[in-house]
Amino acid sequence: MSHQESRLQTWCQTWLLTQDAISSYKEILQVYWETATGLVNACCDGLEPWQIVGLTCSSTLLAVWLHSFLFQPESLTSRIKKQFFKLLRRMPFVGAIIQKKIDEALNDVTSSLSFLKDEKDYIKALPEQGMSQPEVLQKMKEYSSKGDVRWEDGKVSGTVYSGEEKLTRLLVQVYEEFAWSNPLHPDIFPGLRKMEAEVVRIACTLFHGGPSSCGAMTSGGTESILMACKAYRDLAYERGIKHPEMLVPVSAHAAFDKAAHYFGMKMIHIPLTKTMEVDVQAMRRAISKNTAMLVCSAPQFPHGIMDPIEEVAELAVKYKIPFHVDACLGGFLIVFMEKAGFPLKHPFDFRVKGVTSISADTHKYGYAPKGSSVVLYSDKKYRSYQFFVAPDWQGGIYASPSVAGSRPGGIIAACWATLMHVGESGYVEATKRIIKTARFLESELRKIDSIFIFGKPEVSVLSIGSDTFDIYRLSNLLAAKGWNLNVLQFPPSIHLCITQLHTKAGVAEQFLKDVKDSIEDIMKDLNAKTTGMGAIYGMAQSIPDRSLVAEISLAYLDGLYSTEVPGGEKHMNGSPGHC
Ligand SMILES: *Cc1c(COP(=O)(O)O)cnc(C)c1O
Repeated sequence: MSHQESRLQTWCQTWLLTQDAISSYKEILQVYWETATGLVNACCDGLEPWQIVGLTCSSTLLAVWLHSFLFQPESLTSRIKKQFFKLLRRMPFVGAIIQKKIDEALNDVTSSLSFLKDEKDYIKALPEQGMSQPEVLQKMKEYSSKGDVRWEDGKVSGTVYSGEEKLTRLLVQVYEEFAWSNPLHPDIFPGLRKMEAEVVRIACTLFHGGPSSCGAMTSGGTESILMACKAYRDLAYERGIKHPEMLVPVSAHAAFDKAAHYFGMKMIHIPLTKTMEVDVQAMRRAISKNTAMLVCSAPQFPHGIMDPIEEVAELAVKYKIPFHVDACLGGFLIVFMEKAGFPLKHPFDFRVKGVTSISADTHKYGYAPKGSSVVLYSDKKYRSYQFFVAPDWQGGIYASPSVAGSRPGGIIAACWATLMHVGESGYVEATKRIIKTARFLESELRKIDSIFIFGKPEVSVLSIGSDTFDIYRLSNLLAAKGWNLNVLQFPPSIHLCITQLHTKAGVAEQFLKDVKDSIEDIMKDLNAKTTGMGAIYGMAQSIPDRSLVAEISLAYLDGLYSTEVPGGEKHMNGSPGHC
């Protein structure tokens, strides 16, 4: 028998066997089908037709209800937890005790708001006669000299990223020129439209966007993030996803939680590895048919760590999911790191296949005044989902790119002027100074035994923790020495976000000296109780019912709009806000 004949024979045998198998499967299925239908018929035996119809309808309704009860933007466990704590607060005795604790905490928070403390009187109505200009200016001086945190001396983490006087004077002139302008009317202010388009194009170029890359200017990082999330939600809707989910590292900015809250998306928080990078395997496992977007930060706010963007981008490509890189904080540093002589270990921008959008704040390391940021997309098809159009409005066909309607032209012009004035060489130079200072502080802080630095920060944020003492005691003592650091939680830590103001002669050295002196004090009495803002943060982290923490935080927000003279006398430094 030839080789080919034998192959033919084997093939025929296999075919016959398969036919056998199929017919026996058919028989088995037949038996199952008959048993199943028999069972159902037996169940309906003796039931009237209307009963069968009624039962069918009600069980369908029950199934639909159960599905919508189980699958909501907020997870079932989180809702059960909330209900449990709600019940607890309604119980006699226990409820009263909890309420008393809340009232105490509210009191604590309100009286510790340093910005309310010394206010004696408030203006509560329009001055009957307008003040003269010198009067207004004098009044203004009174307001601008309030507060005793010396940000000009580099005492504050983040917040003011340049503060340079020459730039300030330029910005004032530019604002004057565009004070009344509004990009909502490009026909009236065509130059302003050109400026905005140029700011976006410059940012696209910096992040190596291709020819179809594009973007928009917004009022800040939060709005940039909101816009990307809104775009991806609407894209998800179009792809037939009814309940879009976003996969966001726990270290990512709270603006993503805000977006999920505003836009009715489900937030899925992804844990970090020990080095404070997002856990890519956990992210992969969380991907489902509902995933609308993936998120990484470059770098993240709490510890200044760059997320593994290339690895997450691979997931984005493989599963065809949009991928946002939040470079709000460090965007205008990381694009200059290579030229500044501090190349980053991994690429982060549109050169990484899979990155579909990037947010970067011109009002942080772009050194523009507050109220400007950009959100960029790799392709126009994504940006179109960001836009809003009301074609039927009586006021005319209304088309608007972002959240705001009218926008401050003066701020856009000032942002454009900053980019023009600082230029590439200026940004590279500033980046060089900032990263040099950050690396110096990092190596010196690592020499101190009782504290540690989280992960391997590559950019401008150093996050400090301790296994020896309560780290909030360090922030309290530093606050007493005039410093204003960011207080972080889960795990407890404090961070310094290094800006141009920290690169001035002597600032870094003074910081190290104050840290060392404070730690020396702390080590004298390791078991001393934490007081002040540190104590409030410590307590807040230990409360399992997070809605209580939220409730107490509302008192802080109320405080922002307070025009009442407070009765309390206590004073503590710091505030829950940041940057
Ligand atoms: C500051 C920041 C933002 C946005 O903040 P805005 O205050 O709205 O400008 C977003 N992401 C990160 C990582 C940030 O540090």
